Amino acid sequence: MSTTDLVLPVFEQTGAYLHGHFRLTSGLHSPAYLQCAKVLQYPAHAEALGRALAIRFREMSHGEAIPLVTSPAVGGLIIGHEVARSLGARFQFTERDAAGKMTLRRGFEVDAGETAVVVEDVITTGGSTREVIDLLRDYGVKVLAAGSIIDRSGGHADVGVPRAALATLSVTSWAPELCPLCREGSVAVKPGSRNAG
Ligand code: ZN
Repeated sequence: MSTTDLVLPVFEQTGAYLHGHFRLTSGLHSPAYLQCAKVLQYPAHAEALGRALAIRFREMSHGEAIPLVTSPAVGGLIIGHEVARSLGARFQFTERDAAGKMTLRRGFEVDAGETAVVVEDVITTGGSTREVIDLLRDYGVKVLAAGSIIDRSGGHADVGVPRAALATLSVTSWAPELCPLCREGSVAVKPGSRNAG
């Protein structure tokens, strides 16, 4: 059984696997959306998913210690924290400054030469994870791997380091002018809005 088979039922049970007609951040339309926050509202699920990702990172590190987990806020906060708990690592998060640049704030410090993993809730293009990796490398941190609960890229996102995901999906999506749901007369909604799903 793959971890995808284990993870998707948890999304279904918690109402986090939304079925309907959605307008994604990319502008594409899709019949399905995974809302990680709805799973992670349950600390027991968050802990279990974090532990599963931590196991993957331990396999990838071949026994090398991983003292630091870094996540981009807001999406990566809860799952990154749970991965760090399971690894016995500390947890930090990055935020964007006014110019949109990924930064470490709040007095967070890293040591040149220490090893880290980068964790997000969902990887689509891998853009945010790549920005966090670049930032850590600027400080001399060695980024061992990156991970997410969901990989929405079908495994194609390349972040320049080995990657782990608990569920890898190729979610159907269409350009609005080609969307069959629009053609049937339904209106696409932003995931998470009140009438979604
Ligand atoms: Zn549509």
